Amino acid sequence: MKKIKLIVIVISLLNVICSAQNPQVQNLLNDVRLDSLTNFVRQLSGEKSVKINGVTDTIKSRHYQTIGNEKAFQFMKQEFIRYGYQIDSFAFNTNGKNLFAIKTGYKYPNRRFMFGAHYDNQPTTTIAPGADDNASGSSTVLEAGRIFSNYNFPYTIVFALWDEEEPGLLGSIAYVPAIGSNNDTLMGYINVDMLGWDGNNDSIADINVRPVANSITLSNRAQSCNSIYNIQLGLHIVNPGNGSTDHAPFWYNNFSAIGIDEEYDNDFNPYWHTPADSLGQFNLSFYQKCSKLAYATLADLAMDTLNTVGISENTFAAQFQLYPNPFTEQITIHSDGQNELIKKVTLFDCTGRIIFEKQVDNHYTTLFMSEIFNNGVYFLKVFTSENSFVKKIIKQ
Ligand SMILES: [Zn+2]
Repeated sequence: MKKIKLIVIVISLLNVICSAQNPQVQNLLNDVRLDSLTNFVRQLSGEKSVKINGVTDTIKSRHYQTIGNEKAFQFMKQEFIRYGYQIDSFAFNTNGKNLFAIKTGYKYPNRRFMFGAHYDNQPTTTIAPGADDNASGSSTVLEAGRIFSNYNFPYTIVFALWDEEEPGLLGSIAYVPAIGSNNDTLMGYINVDMLGWDGNNDSIADINVRPVANSITLSNRAQSCNSIYNIQLGLHIVNPGNGSTDHAPFWYNNFSAIGIDEEYDNDFNPYWHTPADSLGQFNLSFYQKCSKLAYATLADLAMDTLNTVGISENTFAAQFQLYPNPFTEQITIHSDGQNELIKKVTLFDCTGRIIFEKQVDNHYTTLFMSEIFNNGVYFLKVFTSENSFVKKIIKQ
C-alpha cells in the first residue's frame, strides 16, 4: 500500500516537472538568431571589423598581453550600453578587467543570477582568433544581452565577461569572493566556455557541476529545460565538474554554479589554442543549441514570477506541527485546530520554483519525498481554509 502510494506520488511529481513550460521563456528562445550569434563571433575573432567609439578596427587577438584585449572589452561594453544595460567593471591588476552588464530585477533587486564567459584568449601569436575558446561563449553572453533586454525579470541578471582566464582564472578568482558583500544574494551562476565544437556531430554537451550549495538543482533545471523547451542536446553531466574555467571559483566560494560547455572529455577541439581556432570549424547547429540551453536555464530561473513564494518564511501558526525537520524520507504536517483543515501544500525549491502541489482536505498529511529530491533546502507552503504559512524544510 505504501509502495503504491509512493509510485503515484513520484509519477505525479515527474508530470509537474516535465510539463512546466513558461511561455515567456519560449518567446525569448524564439528571438535567438544564429546570424547574430555568429556575427559577434566574427567580430570578436577578427574575421570582421568592428566599430569602437566610431572608429573602424579589427580585434586580431584578445590575449591579455595585447591591445586587442582592451579593444574587445570596449567593443562588448559598447554593445551592452546599446542594449540599455547598466555597466560596471572590476579591475584586478594593471591590465586585467572584468566587464559586467546589469539588468535590475523588478521584484527582488538584491537577488541575482549571473551568466558569464571569459573573453581573453590564446595563443600568443599576433593573429589569435580564439573563436571557440572563447569568442563562442562571449558571443553567447552578448546575444543574451540583445535578447534579454526586451524582457523584464523579477530577479536581477548580471552578465559577466571575465578577463585573464587563460593565465589561471585570474578575473573570476579576484571577483567572486566579494560577491554578497553589498547585501546581494547570488542565486546561481551559469558559465559558458567553448560551445562551438562538435566534431562527431552527436549534439552532446557537458554540464559541469559539483555538489556545492544548490549547484545540483541548477544542473537539474538545465536538464529539464533541455526537454521542456525541446532544445535537443544530449547532456553529459560531469560531477565533479571540470575545474579549469570560471565556474570553479564559484564552487570554491560555496556558490551555486554550473558550466555549460562542449564535450571536453570525448570530443575535444583539436584547434584549441592554435591560430586555426576559427568560426569555420564550428558546428553551427550545436552552437545555437548550447546557447539556447543557457538562455532557457537563465530565463527560466530569473523569470519565475508565478511560481515564486518570495522565499520568506513566516511564523507557523501554533496549531501546526511539521515533523521531522530536517527530514530524510517523509515529512508530516499536522493541524491541531479543530476547524482549520489543511487544504493544500506546495513545495518550492530554493529558487522559488514549484516542485509539486498536493490537494488535501484533512487535519494531517504526509509527504513521501525520498525518491526525487537532492539534499538541500526547500520551502513548504501550507494552505488552510483561512490562511497560508511558509516553512523552510531541509532534506538530509
Ligand atoms: Zn576557455
